Order: sequence, then structure tokens, then C-alpha cells
Amino acid sequence: MIQIDLSGQVAVVTGGSSGIGFATARLFLQAGASVAICGRDAERLEAAQAALATEFPRAQLLAARCNVLDENHVNAFASRIEARFGRVDMLVNNAGQGRVSTFADTADDAWRDELELKYFSIIRPTRAFLPMLKDAPAPAIVCVNSLLALQPEPHMVATSSARAGVLSLVKSLATELAPQRIRVNSILIGIVESGQWKRRYQDYLQQAQDPRQNWQEWTGELARKKNIPLGRFGLPEEAAQALFYLATTLSSYTTGSHIDVSGGFARHV
Ligand code: NDP
Repeated sequence: MIQIDLSGQVAVVTGGSSGIGFATARLFLQAGASVAICGRDAERLEAAQAALATEFPRAQLLAARCNVLDENHVNAFASRIEARFGRVDMLVNNAGQGRVSTFADTADDAWRDELELKYFSIIRPTRAFLPMLKDAPAPAIVCVNSLLALQPEPHMVATSSARAGVLSLVKSLATELAPQRIRVNSILIGIVESGQWKRRYQDYLQQAQDPRQNWQEWTGELARKKNIPLGRFGLPEEAAQALFYLATTLSSYTTGSHIDVSGGFARHV
């Protein structure tokens, strides 16, 4: 296995209190980086911080409540990181969630909310951390995007549309920031087991008749119905590994690009 030593470097993971963000924070800590994570829910954040502190007792870890859509929160998060670590080398824009709705049942406010979430969850942290990234020796920004960007689903019309825009945003950012040596890339994920899918499974348990499927049966059936060639959901760690690759010098000649982490779900060449 390739070993990469990130000691002395600082990684910021938005939405690091759960799922893909949490798995990504673990990888950075394993590689010796100092890590800052954020989320809105205090309990979830404390639980994540406690779990990471137990696994990595000597870790330099900062966990802060921060809604990435709130400019004041994001600026305060950046100031705390600057005061504690004095630098940022890698920014992972991961915070967010999807919206299940068709065109018929998506009202204007829902469209605005979804577009705001998908765009500003990248715009605000990127703007706030740019001054520190500019001073880093090998800076990188990585965004969690979805395969919906290229392969829209009618039952997620607003999310799909916003995801396509994010693909364009990442490309433009990569071009604009390349002269400053800041690489910008994304991953396009299919379905990854994480907090949002665990919540959907809880909804299923409440509504389903007996016999209820267990988690493996439920996700396996969904993967088959959706014709995912690898026949299962992805794991948060599998998305995290792609994020880690794009955030570090393992991918030093890659920018404005994306990695597909969808188990073969992408239908295009
Ligand atoms: P989780 O629900 O497990 O994790 C989402 C994380 O983001 C949590 O830490 C959550 O904490 C945080 N978060 C959400 N909104 C905000 C906000 N406004 N400000 C700060 N933190 C926020 O889900 P995933 O790991 O699956 O999600 C990670 C990313 O992957 C999301 O952007 C999601 O849309 C994307 N994605 C996931 C897919 C999947 O199948 N899992 C498919 C396609 C894309 P809190 O709620 O406490 O704020």
C-alpha cells in the first residue's frame, strides 16, 4: 500500500460528523494530518469527536458547530482553525444532503433551498479558506458531488439539476485557481451507505409490514432494482478513499476533474 505522510498538514472536512465526511476525517487522521470537522447538530458532532479522539488519542482535531450556508458561521470556523493550526492545506466540501421530489411536487422555495445548499455549501467554505489555501505548499479542494450531475433522476429533479451546475462550478474554480497552484476536483457518487440512507431505512421500518427486511436485505434489493452493476451500495470509506486521493499529492497532476464512485451505475461512456 502507498503510504502518505500528512503530518504538519491541515485538512478541513465540512459535514465531518457523519457518513462520508467522518470516514474522510479518519483517513486524514490516519495519515497524520490535523483535522477540522463541522456540522450543525451538536450531539452528532460530539459523538464524532469522541469516536475520533478514542481511535486517534494523539490527534489534533477541531470539531465545531457550523452551518456551511451561514457566512458568519463559516468565517468563525475558519478563524478558529487559523488560530489553532495557522494553516489549511486541504478542503473537502462534503456537507449536505439530497432532496427527493419530482418537478410536480417541488415548489419554488424548495428549488431555491436546494440550489442554495448545493452551490453555497461550496462557495462559502471555499471563499473563507482560500486565503489559507493560497499559502499552502500543495493546496487542494475536493467537492462531494453526485452521479446525478451527469445522470439525472426525475424523482430528484432539483438535486440533479443543482449537481450538474456544481460540476461546472468545480471546473471553473479549477481553471481560475490553477495559477495559484490550488487543485479543485470532485467525486461523483452513486449510492453510499451513510446517515441519510440510515434515516430512510428507519422510515421504511416504521411504514413496512412484517416481515421487515434487515439493512443488508433492504439495501441489496434497492441496489438490484436500480441495476447497480456491483450489486450493492458503496461504503463511506470507499468514497473517502477517492476524496483522499484527490486531496493529496497522490493526484498532483489532476485538476478540474472527477472520479466516479458509483459501483458502475454510470450509464455513459
Ligand atoms: P450524512 O447524512 O451521513 O452526512 C452529512 C453530513 O453533512 C453530516 O455531518 C451533517 O451534519 C452535515 N451537514 C448537512 N448539512 C449541513 C450544513 N448545512 N452545514 C454543515 N453541515 C451539514 O450523509 P452523506 O455522508 O451521505 O453525505 C455527504 C455528502 O454526500 C452530502 O453532500 C450528500 O448530499 C452527498 N451525497 C450522498 C449520497 C449517498 O448516497 N449517501 C449520494 C449523492 C451525494 P448535520 O446534519 O449535523 O449538520
